[in-house]
Amino acid sequence: MRKQNAERHYAERIGWLRAAVLGANDGIVSTASLVVGVAASHAAQGDVLIAGIAGLVAGAMSMAAGEYVSVSSQADTEKADLERERHELETDEAFEHNELAAIYVRRGLEPLLAQQVAKQLMAHDALAAHARDELGLSEMHAARPLQAALASAATFAVGAALPLLMVLLSPVANMIPLVAGSSLVFLALLGALAARVGGANVAVGAGRVTLWGALAMAATAAVGALFGNVVA
Ligand SMILES: [Zn+2]
Repeated sequence: MRKQNAERHYAERIGWLRAAVLGANDGIVSTASLVVGVAASHAAQGDVLIAGIAGLVAGAMSMAAGEYVSVSSQADTEKADLERERHELETDEAFEHNELAAIYVRRGLEPLLAQQVAKQLMAHDALAAHARDELGLSEMHAARPLQAALASAATFAVGAALPLLMVLLSPVANMIPLVAGSSLVFLALLGALAARVGGANVAVGAGRVTLWGALAMAATAAVGALFGNVVA
């Protein structure tokens, strides 16, 4: 029993860690690319910093908004399913009882035992039994839009803060290579961590996100340099 709980909590933590790493990745890639692009247009350090901070806030807000909307619609769906289930239990309990017993038979119980289990669980809390075993809903995985939105915004902001810190610490002449280089190192570390936690190949995990980060920064640097020359 203790081992099972440990495994369940481990799986829960993995979910959160992966979401956090992905959020931070987004923060690093989008803010570092923005900063490198603006710096490539020969902007002053202060302007680069302002652009980066605006990018952090905009990115964090859009992540929060996106997460809130998508998790809210998931919460709406779960609520609607529960309401329909409650109605079905009120209008046709016998059918619901057989439906639940059939689920337990499919899971390997003897029909007679399945009937008994369904009867006892429905007597205890019919809606909870159907929510869990028929709809697959559990309290632990219930959609929490605000929590998800805040977590997403926070992890994005932490990721975005890393290249901004490098803008502050770098001499103007070396800002682009220092911001780009350090951001790629941060990405590789996070990519390796996400792969390690997910049980995937660490080198592949690190390489994949670093490659995309490098491509994103190269694209924005090219655009920044182009516009910098045209506009200046
Ligand atoms: Zn049902």
